[in-house]
Amino acid sequence: MFVALEIGHADIVQGVAQTVTDDRRFETGLSSQWSRVRSKLRAEFGEAAYRSWLKPASFEAVDDETVRILAPTRFMRDWIETQYGERLKRLWAEEMPALRRLEIVHLGAATEKVEVPASPVVADAEKSDKEIGALLDPRFRFENFVVGKPNELAFAAARRVGEAQAVPFNPLFLYGGVGLGKTHLMHAIAWHIRDTNPERRVIYLSAEKFMYQFIRAMRYKDTMAFKEQFRSVDVLMIDDVQFFSGKDNTQEEFFHTFNALVDQNRQVVISADKSPNDLEGMEERMKSRLGWGLVADIHPTIYELRLGILQSKAERMEVDIPLKVLEFLAHKITSNVRELEGALNRLVAYANLVGRPVTLENTQEVLHDILRANDRRVTIEEIQKRVAEHFNIRLGEMYSARRSRAIARPRQVAMYLAKQLTARSLPEIGRKFGGRDHTTVMHAVRKVDELCALDSAFSEDVELLRRMLEG
Ligand code: ADP
Ligand code: MG
Repeated sequence: MFVALEIGHADIVQGVAQTVTDDRRFETGLSSQWSRVRSKLRAEFGEAAYRSWLKPASFEAVDDETVRILAPTRFMRDWIETQYGERLKRLWAEEMPALRRLEIVHLGAATEKVEVPASPVVADAEKSDKEIGALLDPRFRFENFVVGKPNELAFAAARRVGEAQAVPFNPLFLYGGVGLGKTHLMHAIAWHIRDTNPERRVIYLSAEKFMYQFIRAMRYKDTMAFKEQFRSVDVLMIDDVQFFSGKDNTQEEFFHTFNALVDQNRQVVISADKSPNDLEGMEERMKSRLGWGLVADIHPTIYELRLGILQSKAERMEVDIPLKVLEFLAHKITSNVRELEGALNRLVAYANLVGRPVTLENTQEVLHDILRANDRRVTIEEIQKRVAEHFNIRLGEMYSARRSRAIARPRQVAMYLAKQLTARSLPEIGRKFGGRDHTTVMHAVRKVDELCALDSAFSEDVELLRRMLEG
């Protein structure tokens, strides 16, 4: 959950915590402003309060009108908001005259299911509510989206919607796991339409915010205005509709809004973490309606896409990171793009701070926790099982002493993948393969590398296995 403290204008902004913005110079200036704000608060509220509540919080600049304070937990966010919110807002406004919005979010805000607070916590709220959509992230544009196999359909569909003069399919339903680019694509559609057809009304908001506004409208007995707002747009985009699951009244209202827009041939774009059919806690008629247009899923990333994303981001951040390091990260950090970005950001911050070039060695040090978390994803046992299945041999052959090529080759592939996809050492891997010596594993790794270079069919096989295991 997040709180938006407005300066002279009411809005609630979707609270997705991102940690570093691209514009580093902008951020460095703000960093010192943030430390000034903090030291003033420290002087005012005392050392103990400062240490417990304000020091652990960090900030990020969203744009030159908006600052976001990130609190480690929801509880701390609430506390900072109630105890220090007003002061924070005033002090920031002294630092940043253009500031209009101070948001306080907690770091889990992006993924956590939240309850709506008993009353909307909006300071300085004016009754007028012109801005019903959320702010668009300036980084989330089509130009900054790296396209690869896993997301090409979703990307093409989003482009179509962004560029089309008439509604090409309705709704566009984008789905996929966390951090794979759904929000990015939706913002990109909105940016594109704003740039090319500024007269078209586009509204983007999270399902959570839709509900929040709906509840607020009911509280103020203002549901007519609420309905009007949504029903007069050209393009409505609602992000993360799985949030509606089990929330019957909001779902009902959303269903009516949705139908009204589709009936008038207005474009609707929806995202969720699952396909329409798999959405739990959604009414059948809703699920069926959501699947009427184009349903495009974003698959988990593959190595090439991850590498492409890293290269593009490193380039945009204007930092020199050896290709070897980027390749290493693309191999190791397989969870999602958000985590990949987080790793890169941390690496860049480190390099700037210590003023030393990034190497494979210090990368492993700086990112050890992220790397470890990703390693846990694939176990040697899983690798052995998959590889045995793939080559149609018994799992037991992974540990057996047999050395015929039909058995030994798959075993070598499994060792190779164990080395690539886990953090296990060579002796550890050897032990898991029937107590073999670490030199046997080393030999296997070399052999597979060699074969990959010589035999493209073999290399594709290995790559396929890797993808299956990483996915
Ligand atoms: P989702 O909404 O699916 O959870 P986001 O759209 O928030 O994911 O993406 C998470 C982060 O990863 C964002 O910073 C986004 O810019 C970045 N990202 C995801 N996919 C790509 C891509 N294909 N190219 C560039 N950046 C991407
Ligand atoms: Mg999202």
